[in-house]
Amino acid sequence: MSPTYRPLIYIISAPSGSGKSTLVNELLKLVPDLDFSISYTTRAPRGSEQHGKQYHFVPRAEFEQMIGDDEFLEHANVFGNYYGTARRFLREAEEKKHDLLLDIDVQGAAQMKRKLPDAVSIFVLPPDRKTLEWRLRKRSEDAEDVIARRLVTASREIENYDKYDYILINDDLEESIESLQAIVLSERLPRSRAPQSAGEKKIVELADRQRLANIRDRVRPILDSFGGLPPSARS
Ligand code: ADP
Ligand code: 5GP
Repeated sequence: MSPTYRPLIYIISAPSGSGKSTLVNELLKLVPDLDFSISYTTRAPRGSEQHGKQYHFVPRAEFEQMIGDDEFLEHANVFGNYYGTARRFLREAEEKKHDLLLDIDVQGAAQMKRKLPDAVSIFVLPPDRKTLEWRLRKRSEDAEDVIARRLVTASREIENYDKYDYILINDDLEESIESLQAIVLSERLPRSRAPQSAGEKKIVELADRQRLANIRDRVRPILDSFGGLPPSARS
């Protein structure tokens, strides 16, 4: 019998409006054998969202039943609604020998890292607060009070940026897609040998530029635009 495939798990988190869904959609078109884990949520669908596509939209009682049946790898309460990653997505990825991409919040990311320390985590940041506000408005999906709440939450979420392996500053969309693709592909390369072809070297170089340790200086002005971090979160 062939050995069980251990899927690579990619976690992507971002303050709402940073462009995470846009990046994820493009990434999934570019990278083969990468499945998106469609989370369960108790929030209502927005705009053109469809059940089973962006999310499995379920009533609160059903979600709570699933928690009771231990069906989630992780779950969290975000903006007053439940969101969770079903265990079965990991099993299905294993069977298909695919890797798995999770779009989850900072609480979920922390839970996943505790359970699966090898998971690769990526935090998407907007170039600054003003741009984030503009993107939230441009999307025209949220009322003004919701936008205001998302901006306050964003300031809190970005305090956790340094718990992630990679930071992706989503300024120019094309460049961000290229960097995200490089992160995913570089993590698939064997660790036992140095990158060989020019293509592999380019991927590794591009991915390395987004590593937490190499990007801190570019992150600082972004944090400042959100009013800076409390002393406890500075390094
Ligand atoms: P999120 O999933 O993080 O909440 P979205 O992917 O919905 O964010 O993006 C929010 C808005 O910003 C959308 O209108 C999207 O088209 C736009 N957007 C995303 N990335 C960029 C970018 N790099 N430059 C300009 N606009 C962007
Ligand atoms: P939205 O309602 O804007 O689609 O998502 C709100 C937040 O919930 C985002 O930060 C998103 O990453 C997060 N989220 C989506 N699915 C999950 C999940 O399964 N688990 C956790 N912990 N967070 C999730």
